[in-house]
Amino acid sequence: MTGRNSDIDRLLREDLRGRTPYGAPQLDVAVRLNTNENPYPPSAALVEHLVAEVSEAARSMNRYPDRDAVALRSDLAAYLARATGVPLSVDQVWAANGSNEVLQQLLQAFGGPGRTALGFEPTYSMHQHIATGTSTRWLPVPRLPGFRLEPEAAALVVNEHAPDVVFLCSPNNPTGNAVGLAVVEAVYAAARGLVVVDEAYAEFAGGPSAVSLLAGRERLVVTRTMSKAFAFAGARLGYLAADPAVVEALLLVRLPYHLSVISQAAARAALDHADELLSTVQAVKVQRDRLVSEMRALGLDVVDSDANFVLFGELGDERATWQGLLDRGVLVRDVGLPGWLRVTAGTEEETTAFLEALRQGMATNDGEAPA
Ligand code: PMP
Repeated sequence: MTGRNSDIDRLLREDLRGRTPYGAPQLDVAVRLNTNENPYPPSAALVEHLVAEVSEAARSMNRYPDRDAVALRSDLAAYLARATGVPLSVDQVWAANGSNEVLQQLLQAFGGPGRTALGFEPTYSMHQHIATGTSTRWLPVPRLPGFRLEPEAAALVVNEHAPDVVFLCSPNNPTGNAVGLAVVEAVYAAARGLVVVDEAYAEFAGGPSAVSLLAGRERLVVTRTMSKAFAFAGARLGYLAADPAVVEALLLVRLPYHLSVISQAAARAALDHADELLSTVQAVKVQRDRLVSEMRALGLDVVDSDANFVLFGELGDERATWQGLLDRGVLVRDVGLPGWLRVTAGTEEETTAFLEALRQGMATNDGEAPA
């Protein structure tokens, strides 16, 4: 594992030995388009409101926070109901430190030793990573050509393997394309276990959410985050909507007081500014669509995106392209998919900088030429 201390390697769980930690490089580069953040910082008005709320909350910091974060969850339920048009009550919503923690709690409660989680790859690598961390067997199933999923084929494979948990990611990271609700319905009907739809990027897609399918489907879970469209990645706040029984199950595994007084107050303040925060979504989508069309014009293969990032290929040597872009001050993501890289839609200036660096690289042919 670490290569430093063989005694620690010996003590480490066998299934973790030799593994590498999850992590996109956090490099100090002018243009960072590698972690799908919203490029627009919060307004002065939001910062001011947030500071006031956090400072009020700080007065009671000698006490533990509300363990069940009821006020925050009811604000999230109201926001999600407004965004999706589906009425939601506080007992259908759960929150944690980023949707990664929500996903981990789901696998702690519904996965574990002797259990299986299935995902359609390439997909968000943390699904597998969290499965490993919770000793849940990971069952990767390849997506169809063009990284698509079709209802019948997906249902067939879910029925065959009968996993305890199925992950659907919509829009899917790193490919960017959304999964139709017909796929969710078919997979749910074929599954005997939990079906988790990871909608971290849903606000950029704008289409109908799987939240609209929750009624009458008690094994369906929709996870969301404030890290992406909501421009709140640094605060760490993710959430889910599901049957109240799912939320009750998570109470069995969550750490007590997992959401600090500060996190709860900050997230509630941000939710008060939801319209303002989400007003940047349109500008980001314009840059996303620009990335797609301009990279296609360069002769690259580009996957249609419903998210705030774009997967592009087929590159002769994606590592050389990645390095070439970095040398020109632009950080994108090598998602471990041979021939492909992922770029986040940034501000207009950042997107221009990326496209310019890409064009320069292709002109000097340091690996950017299509394969
Ligand atoms: N799901 C998907 C598909 C993601 O891409 C990410 C972040 N990259 C997450 C969940 C987790 O985000 P967070 O923990 O910040 O909510």
